[in-house]
Amino acid sequence: MTQLADTDVAVVGGGFGGLSAACYLADAGADVRVVEKNAELGGRASVLERDGFRFDMGPSWYLMPDVFERFFDHFDRRPEEYYDLERLDPHYRIFFKDGDTCDARGDTEYMQELFESYEPGAGEAFEEYLETSRHHYETAMEKFVYVDRSRLRDWVDPDVMAAAPIGLQLVGSMEGHVEKYVEHPKLKQILQYTLVFLGGSPKNTPALYNIMSHVDFNLGVYYPDGGMGAVVDGLVELGEELGVEYVTDCEVEGITRGRDGFIVDTATGEYRPDRVVANADYGHVERELLPEHERQYDDDYWDSRTYAPSAFLLYLGVEGDIDPLEHHTLVLPRDWDGHFEQIFDLPSWPDEPAYYICAPSVTDDSVAPEGHSNLFVLVPLAPGLPDTEALRQSYRDEILDDIAEHTGVELKDRIVLEERFCVQDFVERYNASRGTALGLAHTLRQTALLRPSNRSSAVEGLYYTGSFTTPGVGVPMCLISGEHTAKALIDDQR
Ligand SMILES: Cc1cc2nc3c(=O)[nH]c(=O)nc-3n(C[C@H](O)[C@H](O)[C@H](O)COP(=O)(O)OP(=O)(O)OC[C@H]3O[C@@H](n4cnc5c(N)ncnc54)[C@H](O)[C@@H]3O)c2cc1C
Repeated sequence: MTQLADTDVAVVGGGFGGLSAACYLADAGADVRVVEKNAELGGRASVLERDGFRFDMGPSWYLMPDVFERFFDHFDRRPEEYYDLERLDPHYRIFFKDGDTCDARGDTEYMQELFESYEPGAGEAFEEYLETSRHHYETAMEKFVYVDRSRLRDWVDPDVMAAAPIGLQLVGSMEGHVEKYVEHPKLKQILQYTLVFLGGSPKNTPALYNIMSHVDFNLGVYYPDGGMGAVVDGLVELGEELGVEYVTDCEVEGITRGRDGFIVDTATGEYRPDRVVANADYGHVERELLPEHERQYDDDYWDSRTYAPSAFLLYLGVEGDIDPLEHHTLVLPRDWDGHFEQIFDLPSWPDEPAYYICAPSVTDDSVAPEGHSNLFVLVPLAPGLPDTEALRQSYRDEILDDIAEHTGVELKDRIVLEERFCVQDFVERYNASRGTALGLAHTLRQTALLRPSNRSSAVEGLYYTGSFTTPGVGVPMCLISGEHTAKALIDDQR
C-alpha cells in the first residue's frame, strides 16, 4: 500500500499500541520511527532478565487469541511465524482465604459441576451466563471494538441502533449483572475477577464487560513460549520487515506543531515528522510534552479521571519448586468489597490483600535456571498511593507470610533473586499518570466515545494510541488501538 508515501511519522512510545500503529502505518507506505524512552521496547510489557531468570514485568495473560490472529493476518502473517503458543489447563487456580481452593478451566462441564457444588442451580446459570457473554462478545467486537467509533458521528449508524436494546441493558454495573445469575459470594468473585484486566471494580464497571467471561472460559488462556516478551519481539520483528525504525533510550521532551509538520524534541536531538502518534500515557503527553494551547483537556479533566489501579510487584527467583501454585494463581480475600473500596473509594494499602501470582516456570523451563522457579506476585493498589521503602519492605514481608499461610508455599528462605516495582516505578519508568499500571479504568464515563479520542481535536496531524484511548486497556485492545489510530491518520491524509 502506498497511501502514506512520503509521509514521515514519529511514534512516541514503544508499547503495544505504538508498535501496532507503527506496523499498520509502515504497511501503508509511511516512513515510521518509533522513539522510546527506555532501553527496551514493549512498554509495560517489558522483560526483566537477571541471573538466568526471565520475568515478564507486566502482562502475563495472553487472552483473545482471535485478536492477535487478526492483527498478523492483516500483514499476511500468522502469530506462529513469530512465537509458539500453549493453551493452559487449568486457566488458573484460586485460593480463597477461608482455606477453600478450586481451579478455573476451559471445560464448561467441569465448570458447571464446580458452580453446582457451591449453589444448587448455579451450574445451569453458569452455562446461561457464558452463552450470553459469548453473544455480547461477538456483537461488541464486530460492531463496536473492531469498528473505530471515536467520534459522535461514528455512532449514527444502523448497526448501533440495532444493538441499542442490548447496550441499554448493559449500562448497569457488573455487580448487578452477576447477581442475576448466582448468589454465592465465591461464584460472584469468579465471574467478577476478570474485571481486574480492565482496571475496574464490580461496582464501577458496566455490565457489558461480562464479555470477559467469554474471553476467559470460552476463548481460553494461552502462554507464548518464553513469555509475553516473545510477543513484543514478534511485533518488533514484523515492524522491521515492514521498514519501521526503532530508537530506544530516547525520551521525548516536547512536541510542537511547526509550519510544515512537527518538531519532536528529545534529549539527543530533534525529529521533524509530518505526523505524530503518541503512545506514551495521554495525560503525560498533554500535560508535559505539548504547549498549553495545543492541549485538548485541562488539568481538571485529568485530575477527575478514574485511573485503573497501580500495583505492588515482587519478582522472585526461588530455589526448588512451588507446588501447588499453578502458572496463574489467584489468592482472593474474605472481604471482597473492602478490597475494592481500598483501591477506588478510600485509597490505602489493602489490609487484606487480594493478589495474583504468575509462575511461568510451571510451564516453561527456559525462564529459570535448573532447579529454580520464577514467579511474580502482583497486588493491585490504588493509583497515586504513597510508596516508600519502608512500606514496600513491610508489605513484602506481609505478602510472603500470606502466601505461606494461604497456599502453603514457603518462599522466604529460598529466594535467590528479588526485585520490587511499585507506584513510583510506574511513574519513573513509563511516565505513568499517578503510577497507574493500566491507564484509564473502564467506568461507564470512560468507555467508548467517552474515552479520550485517538485524534487530537486541537492539533492537526497529532494522534494517540494505547490503553488511554479507544478501545481500551490490555494487550489485545492496544493492538486494535494501533489499527484504529493508523486508519484515522490514513483517512485524514486522504
Ligand atoms: C503489571 C501489569 C500486568 C498486566 N497484565 C496484563 C495481562 O496479563 N494481559 C493483558 O492483556 N494486559 C495486561 N496488562 C496491560 C497491558 O500491559 C497494557 O494495557 C498495554 O501493554 C499498554 O500498552 P500501551 O500501548 O498503552 O503502551 P505502554 O505499554 O504504556 O507503553 C508506552 C510507552 O511510552 C514510553 N514513553 C513514556 N513517555 C515517553 C516519552 N516522553 N518519550 C518516549 N517514550 C515515552 C514508555 O516508556 C512506554 O514504553 C498489564 C499491565 C501491567 C502493568
